[in-house]
Amino acid sequence: MDVPFLSLRDVNARYVDELKAAASRVIDSGWYVMGDELVAFEREFAAYCGSTHALGVGNGLDALSLILRGYKEMGVLRDGDEVIVPANTFIATFLAITANQLVPVPVEPDPFTFNIDPERVEAAIGPRTRAIMPVHLYGQLADMDSLGALASQHGLLLIEDAAQAHGARRNGRRAGTFGHAAGFSFFPAKNLGALGDGGAMVTGDDELATHVAALRNYGSEVKYHHLYQGFNSRLDEIQAAMLRVKLAHLDDEVSRRRSVAQRYREGIRHERIVLPQVGVEESHAWHLFVVRSSQRAELQRHLSLQGVQSQVHYPVPPHRQPAYASLHDVPLPITEQLHNEVLSLPMGPALDDDAVERVIDACNTFGGMS
Ligand SMILES: *Cc1c(COP(=O)(O)O)cnc(C)c1O
Repeated sequence: MDVPFLSLRDVNARYVDELKAAASRVIDSGWYVMGDELVAFEREFAAYCGSTHALGVGNGLDALSLILRGYKEMGVLRDGDEVIVPANTFIATFLAITANQLVPVPVEPDPFTFNIDPERVEAAIGPRTRAIMPVHLYGQLADMDSLGALASQHGLLLIEDAAQAHGARRNGRRAGTFGHAAGFSFFPAKNLGALGDGGAMVTGDDELATHVAALRNYGSEVKYHHLYQGFNSRLDEIQAAMLRVKLAHLDDEVSRRRSVAQRYREGIRHERIVLPQVGVEESHAWHLFVVRSSQRAELQRHLSLQGVQSQVHYPVPPHRQPAYASLHDVPLPITEQLHNEVLSLPMGPALDDDAVERVIDACNTFGGMS
């Protein structure tokens, strides 16, 4: 049998009794949207992150989008303001910006950590820059010390795209608490995954939390009274109940991801496979284990013949997508090279030791070399 890239069935099978009990509790309650499960999950997730507010929303894209929309309602952001964003990210980071009539300014990453390069961020700050939106890509915290210093020096908002980084930690602080606000995704494949779509925004800013709480619910604080032209983007009771079960296991799952990554980093030795670089060990929550190879297509074919599944995150950067034709000519050579070289190996909390060794052997026998 192949080593799967990620088996969600295996991930969730370990909690099947708890998940079924939680689902029954919701079914029996007769209350399915905006109820006690959501309130309890929001309290538990805010406490887990070490923040004041967590607000459940429909998905990770909406979490990011509603943060920006909240700051627009507060008058902090205006149409046409620029937001600095990593060039090598999932499209959702860009979509949240452009959906709010803001302008994404893509900045190149450090090619070894894959995260946005603070020196290039500084060079990109101009008179219309109002925010920096770093992504903790593949689960590793971006350089939040440098980015935080730049943000305060230039009076910019710092908004974390933490969709891949649940559980990443640095100096006792977790992803989601380094900036003014953060967006999380609970898409099933994320480190904390629901059994469907889900997301949350986390913030210590009371005013922003008040705005987003209304914006996600038709722009209303009091039923049938509408302060803004809001959205319907809420985290269902059933998903909140699933997430409460899984949140209790998140730290164990992240430590399992860390030991898999550790074993990969010790075991994979190949001159044409570049391993990811890690800052502080705890700062990586290993959503994905991403290597680089100038012969990616051949490597992927070899792994597949050895029964090891792999994926590419992501084959085409946002600025090269048809959706962003106006950005096609922005020169971003590091980003383009990375998109040609990155390959994600199997990773997840349910990957067993035998599977990990099979992945290592498959990598080390690439091209007959070891
Ligand atoms: C998954 C993801 C999102 C969007 O989350 P959804 O819940 O799928 O909408 C945003 N940013 C990054 C970096 C992601 O990986």
